[in-house]
Parts: sequence; structure tokens; C-alpha cells
Amino acid sequence: MEINVENILRKSFLSKEELILLLGSTGEEKKQVFELAQQVKAEGVGKKVYFRGLIEYSNLCSKNCFYCGIRSGNPRYARYRMTDKEVMEAVDFAYESRYASLVVQAGEQSGKAYVDHIESILKKIHQKTNGELHVTLSLGEQSEETFRRWFEAGAHRYLLRIEVSNPALYSRLHPMDRHHSYAKRLEALEMLRKTGYQVGTGVMIGLPYQTLSDLADDLLFFHDFDVDMVGMGPYIEHQDTPLYQYRDQLLPLKERFDLSLKMVALLRILMKDINIAATTAMQTIDPQGREKALMAGANVIMPNLTPVKYREDYLLYENKPCIDEEAAECRGCLEARIFMAGDEIAYGEWGDSAHYKKRTRNYDQK
Ligand code: SAH
Ligand code: SF4
Repeated sequence: MEINVENILRKSFLSKEELILLLGSTGEEKKQVFELAQQVKAEGVGKKVYFRGLIEYSNLCSKNCFYCGIRSGNPRYARYRMTDKEVMEAVDFAYESRYASLVVQAGEQSGKAYVDHIESILKKIHQKTNGELHVTLSLGEQSEETFRRWFEAGAHRYLLRIEVSNPALYSRLHPMDRHHSYAKRLEALEMLRKTGYQVGTGVMIGLPYQTLSDLADDLLFFHDFDVDMVGMGPYIEHQDTPLYQYRDQLLPLKERFDLSLKMVALLRILMKDINIAATTAMQTIDPQGREKALMAGANVIMPNLTPVKYREDYLLYENKPCIDEEAAECRGCLEARIFMAGDEIAYGEWGDSAHYKKRTRNYDQK
């Protein structure tokens, strides 16, 4: 069948069939997809790129996801948790560098002591920065009560990737037990929304068994769930994980990267005012991966503020870039990269998703 990309792209909404065709586009047609995404980005969110300083707080994890290097079943990494002092040093760096926003990410942990501790860190951050540094959490599934307590202690946004929106595929990528349930993941996303967070989710691209039809459904999932932010990137195999056995069946890395860029572009076309991250996994495959993601429609970058001594132990996937670069070097290198991508860094701005601002009223803008 001959596809007329121009006609498809002129429509206000893209159907699943059209998304599948566009995900498979090449040459001139692919170029048209990227051109439209750039145009939509300029109209929807402009040229500003928002920084979120990333703190990889701990690699302790109670889960055993089949794709992830820091899964509990992997004995290779020394398990760590950053001290409060180290967290506050990263907070100071972010604050002084006018990043305006932080992401605290870790393996999934629970229990009263842990929940209390995170709450106390959030309060310290709030106090130390006069509430000026916004905090995004990415700490996995928690109870509604925990989500609420952390929200009240000062967290504003939460990132919880659905990983794949197809429940059957989800169950092939996770152990079959109640701790790894698609229904629970979805429920957690709904609780986050209800609690008042700006909600972010995302998927991995190029997983074993994943089809273009699955990826089209992922895009529609983001749209139907009406998310505020998305972080997605290529799946990258890790030798200490069960999924490694399928490495020969995966798309070559370059194609996974290309598909990820198309996902970013199509998502921008579908959701013009959300925040989309240019993820580190993109840079893992292509040294200019994040800049390319910015050009395809992303508008958020997460410079890594984790102390270098821990980075070797937070390898969700292999060949993670910048593991020996201190935060200050990272900042310098990013500034040059973003300038090259034709965008500008919005220092000192929270950069809350325009989509979130529209869907809520009690919004105090910075
Ligand atoms: N434990 C939390 C946050 C840390 S993991 C959680 O799971 O939500 C953060 C993200 O890393 C996951 O959501 C997953 O999408 C991504 N990830 C894990 N293993 C990966 C791999 N092998 N390749 C690419 N991304 C991976
Ligand atoms: Fe743990 Fe998150 Fe990795 Fe799953 S993806 S094993 S929850 S860190």
C-alpha cells in the first residue's frame, strides 16, 4: 500500500494504523515526520530546555525486572544508599547551578523507615532551598499513603514508567508474582494523578517480543492517560539479566535508536504541550543521542549529579555514558550540546509541563 505521509500528518489525531505506518517510515517520509515534530515543538513548548539534576539515590531494589541491571537477583553490584550529606551536596550544586529542579531516582524500596527517611530528605530540600527547587521522585510503586506523604513533604512530580502498555508483554518481562503486576503499576499511576502530582510515565523501545503495534499502543496510552511528562528510550541489554538471552533477536542498536527518535517525534505530534525527556539511554547508543532527541521533540534533560563513586553501581543497562564525569563537567558539556541542537537552557525555571498547568487551576508559576 502506498502511504501518503503528508495527508496523515495533516490530521489532528493519528490512529493506531497510522502510527504504525509512521513508526515504520523511512527516507523522505521519515523526514516529514521529524519536520512536523519540530514545528509542533516550536508551537507547543518553544525552544527552552529544562534541566532536572538527577540523583541516583540508591541501587537497593526489592524487584527483579528481567531487563534491569540492578535487579535484586544480580549480585554483581555493591549496594549503596547515598548519605543525607551527599544528597544535600547534590542539592546545593543543583540550586547554585540554577537547575530549579531535581529528580531523585532509586530501586524500589519500602518499609516505614525508608518512607520516613525520604520524607525527611524532602523536607530538608524544601527548607534549604526555600521551596525553590522542585523535586521529582522516581522511586517505584508505593502505597497511596506514601505517595501522599511525599507529596505533602514537597515532591511535585513523579515518574513511573509503565514500561510497556501491553499487559501480556509486561508479564513476559517481569516475574509472575504479585510484586510485578501490570494492574498494580497502572493503579499506582492513577493514585499519583489523584494525589496531585504531575505524572510522568514512559516505555522502553526495542524490547524482545515488542512490535510496532505495541509501540503505537504505547503512544496512545500516553495520550489516553493524559500524562504530563514522558521519559522513554531504547532498551539496552545487560549481561546479568534474564533478557540477555534474547540479544540476538533484538533490532540492531542503531535501529532501536532510530525507532526511539520516531517515538519521540510522534509523541510530540500527538501531545504538543507535555514535557518529553531526552533520555540518557539515547546517548548510550549515539554520543549525540540527547541532542537528536531534542531536535525530534524532547524538551527536558537530566544531567547526572550522582557522586561518581556510585555510578558504576547504578548500571540499569550496559555502556551507560558519563559514568566518570563529575556534575560540573557534565554541565559544561551539556551547554555546548544544547546550543548545537539549536535550543536554549531555561536556567532558574521550574519548567512544569504546560499540559499540567492547563489541566489544573491552583498553579503558582515560576
Ligand atoms: N525503580 C524505579 C526507578 C529506577 S529504574 C522504577 O523501576 O520505576 C528507571 C527506569 O530504567 C525503568 O523504569 C526502566 O524503564 C529503565 N531501565 C531499566 N532497565 C533498562 C534497560 N536494560 N534498558 C533501558 N532502560 C532500562
Ligand atoms: Fe528495580 Fe526499577 Fe530496575 Fe525494576 S526497573 S529492577 S524496579 S530498579
